[in-house]
Amino acid sequence: MSEILRVEHLKKFFDVPAGTLHAVDDVSFTIQEGQTLGVVGESGCGKSTLGRTVLKLIEPTSGKIFFEGRDITDISKHENRELRKKMQIIFQDPFSSLNPRFCVSDLIADPLKTFGMYGKKELEERVLEIMDLVGLSRRYAYSYPHELDGGRRQRIGIGRALALDPEFIVCDEPVSALDVSIQAQILNLLQDLQDKRKLTYIFVTHDLSVVKHISTDIMVMYIGVMVEKCPAKELFARPLHPYTKGLLSAIPVPNIHHEQKRVQLQGELSSPIDPAEECRFVKRCPYATDICRCKQPTYEEVTPGHFVSCHNVREINGL
Ligand code: SF4
Repeated sequence: MSEILRVEHLKKFFDVPAGTLHAVDDVSFTIQEGQTLGVVGESGCGKSTLGRTVLKLIEPTSGKIFFEGRDITDISKHENRELRKKMQIIFQDPFSSLNPRFCVSDLIADPLKTFGMYGKKELEERVLEIMDLVGLSRRYAYSYPHELDGGRRQRIGIGRALALDPEFIVCDEPVSALDVSIQAQILNLLQDLQDKRKLTYIFVTHDLSVVKHISTDIMVMYIGVMVEKCPAKELFARPLHPYTKGLLSAIPVPNIHHEQKRVQLQGELSSPIDPAEECRFVKRCPYATDICRCKQPTYEEVTPGHFVSCHNVREINGL
């Protein structure tokens, strides 16, 4: 298995009237081919901005992005366009991301037409193949998005992302807008497609339980920074950061971590605008000490393969 994506010290800041918003602040990670990195955090933590910055849909403020060993941080518009064949995105809300005036067939054909990849007859065939691939009955080829339910609309979104036969996809909250029963179908579809096509995913979600089974590794973000990253099983079995413990405590599953102290996520959120030199979780953390209020913790490997950003991680977990 080889490395497909490397992100080094990535930052994405936005100028806003109140100052500089640190949406993504010094994030680094790698993903191996065929694997899934779950990126988890509350709304506004920077996870969607991270996904879009990695895809070069928005330009990073600083840092480096390598795709298949090539530095894609400062590529030209033409190279960026070519990159779309290899790197794609599935959006949260298929309804708002689909042109309501296009039928299913046109929506799936759209990215193929943009790249002029097929003649008319081949294009029709290719669209039908993609519909089969994403489990969308061919009888919907001339239906419009508003005539279909949320699950079928998301299958169109997945079909559009797959049309160019990419290797890497950012799935940005792809099941958040769906009913729970439909969520499972879409997650199964994404896993099947990954197996069949050796796809690599970044799976962005606010809901840890959604990425439990689909992720190889999980990275937890809090107000623009990484607070914990490790293999998915390890994260659920032994979360080390107080914020991750709080997220897991909120999952209503019997027996989960019943022996661990439950951490309630209460208190005020720190601001992502010109953040102070302190731990960003300090205002909500039951374990905060003086150092947490004057120094941002560094991100370090606490046990093999398990990275955490917390001054007191060893004391909290008895390590
Ligand atoms: Fe809590 Fe301090 Fe760790 Fe931040 S560094 S998570 S405030 S103990």
